[in-house]
Amino acid sequence: MPARWKNDKPMSRSAFDARFSDEEACSHYLAEHRWPEGFVCPSCGTCKGWPLKRNRATWECAGCARQTSVTAGTVMHSSHLPLRIWFLAAHIITSHSNGMSALQLQAQLGLGSYKTAWLLLQKLRRSMVNPDRNPLKDLVEIDETEIPFRSRHDPEDRPKGGRSPVGKMFVVCAVELSRDGHPRRIRMKHIPDGASKTLHGFIGQAVEPGAHVITDGWLGYENPPANTHEAKVVSGKKAHDILHWVHRVFSNLKTWAKGVFHGLRKCHLQRYLDEFVFRWNRRRHMRSAFDTLLGIGVGIGPATYRDFVEQRA
Ligand SMILES: [Zn+2]
Repeated sequence: MPARWKNDKPMSRSAFDARFSDEEACSHYLAEHRWPEGFVCPSCGTCKGWPLKRNRATWECAGCARQTSVTAGTVMHSSHLPLRIWFLAAHIITSHSNGMSALQLQAQLGLGSYKTAWLLLQKLRRSMVNPDRNPLKDLVEIDETEIPFRSRHDPEDRPKGGRSPVGKMFVVCAVELSRDGHPRRIRMKHIPDGASKTLHGFIGQAVEPGAHVITDGWLGYENPPANTHEAKVVSGKKAHDILHWVHRVFSNLKTWAKGVFHGLRKCHLQRYLDEFVFRWNRRRHMRSAFDTLLGIGVGIGPATYRDFVEQRA
């Protein structure tokens, strides 16, 4: 078992099949997360209600008869796909440490259409970015790299030598380190260039004011507006010796992109980076990643309240 799973081992496939055997089991799971203390009507606050016989994902309030879906606020809301397909897709994505392409997912889910699998994957990927996530703090290593991309028409394998049609794209990465030098969270962004304005913009989004930023000697990083900055330039040493963790992350990213996707395409680069960041940041918490991916829990409390407010507005 990989060491990173020791705290939060993903469910096995047989345990998953037993737990989420049908639509009712999935609906029940969603209802439990939405109303951990039991059903509460988001409209009138009545604590009594029941799931409809013909659709267990919809609950009806005993007080005002308003119907509430357990999928409200999740990525599954208004989808025509069975809940079990969504659950299984999230399970597969979070239990395969490398993730997978839409083609592989289509085969695993037994879906007839590639387009359905692709769309499903894109929707789940969108859940991988939490808009309220906290910026990185303490020590933060930052560097940028170039990643080759292939265009839509490039073959996945091309003969070595000769003129390569492959282009390059810039990616900047920040790695948060604890005070004793252990890596914690990361952020990544596809950037157009290595100009000061671009790099300072990234630091402003990804890094908490006051954090200590460590970079190589590139001038574009000089004088970040809200952070202390240390340019580590040691003559005779290569960049990967100085900024150890950020280079290790880049190396993992490149291996992952090649292994899972046979190289990345420019048009969806940020989505792939988001998936990589999500996997890295949750490498020890893949069980909770399952809920995050489906949007479960995001809506508990505030969303119920918001439902309530919007209902009255
Ligand atoms: Zn009600």
